[in-house]
Amino acid sequence: MQERIQKIKDQLHAASYKLTPQREATVIVLLENEADHLSAEDVYLKVKEKAPEIGLATVYRTLELLAELKVVDKINFGDGVARFDLRKEGAEHFHHHLVCMECGAVDEIEEDLLGEVELKVERDYNFKIMDHRLTFHGICHRCQR
Ligand SMILES: [Zn+2]
Ligand SMILES: [Zn+2]
Ligand SMILES: [Zn+2]
Repeated sequence: MQERIQKIKDQLHAASYKLTPQREATVIVLLENEADHLSAEDVYLKVKEKAPEIGLATVYRTLELLAELKVVDKINFGDGVARFDLRKEGAEHFHHHLVCMECGAVDEIEEDLLGEVELKVERDYNFKIMDHRLTFHGICHRCQR
């Protein structure tokens, strides 16, 4: 945990930002809830438990900053709510998601399965791919039982 906080701190410093206590509290909440896909409001409620003085606007700004610096990715699963998701360490591209249409669970695929597709797109469309979003909608293994 400490090591990952340090890494994020370095990313902020490289872009001339400081890891203020409020920003750190936000980062810790994201790390502690890494498997979840929290909305800004969810993050705010959890940060507030640690730092009651923090305001929603501060949390919003921190999340936007972290998104800009590619520490987190912002994702929308079609319900109109922006969610914040930590980028996997060393991952060049954003991971993929499996969204269950029955229970709403969101699972992750960490491997980037798109290598060949990316090559084809780059070749056929002369398009330099920087990132992608891929969400599969279906029925999760729990709901299939
Ligand atoms: Zn995710
Ligand atoms: Zn990729
Ligand atoms: Zn399910």
